[in-house]
Amino acid sequence: MITAVYPGSFDPVTNGHLDIAIRASRLFDIVIMAVFDRPNKRLLFDTDQRVALLREAVGDHPNIKVDTYSIMTVDYVQHVGGSVIVRGLRDPRDFDAEFQMAQINQRLAPKVDVVLFMADHKYTFFSSTTVKELASLGRDVSWLVPPHVDEALRRAYLQPQE
Ligand code: ADP
Repeated sequence: MITAVYPGSFDPVTNGHLDIAIRASRLFDIVIMAVFDRPNKRLLFDTDQRVALLREAVGDHPNIKVDTYSIMTVDYVQHVGGSVIVRGLRDPRDFDAEFQMAQINQRLAPKVDVVLFMADHKYTFFSSTTVKELASLGRDVSWLVPPHVDEALRRAYLQPQE
């Protein structure tokens, strides 16, 4: 049985993330979408919100689970008995970053492999950051995220930011 971990900030989850998770769920027995608790980024949604949005998004997929973690990714993968890290590649910049991370992870946990999925051409051009930028300016993002995430973004940007 192969458990794969798909780690990320998921602030918030987008259709691009979901496409990768669903494709990974066809190859591996269990895919855990693991929300990194404290990424080195300014977040819009806190960890509980990011987890709740993800749970609703993957509700129909029996072998996709959602969890949160705050340790090193390879330590988390080993902690849950996983052997694969799933990541998505949108462009060569993603590749460069993943290649470097994989080199480090290989030294830290030689039995954990990174499996990279080429993003579908429908999703290569955006990130959660793009989605937040558009939503913050009142533009429609319903074509980039699931409906409940669209709702959450609308609510988040209706309220004045502190
Ligand atoms: P991180 O902060 O770890 O990059 P993200 O949530 O932004 O977390 O992304 C998690 C993973 O999903 C990364 O491998 C990233 O390349 C991939 N990803 C992000 N956006 C998309 C997209 N639109 N299509 C496919 N993969 C994506």
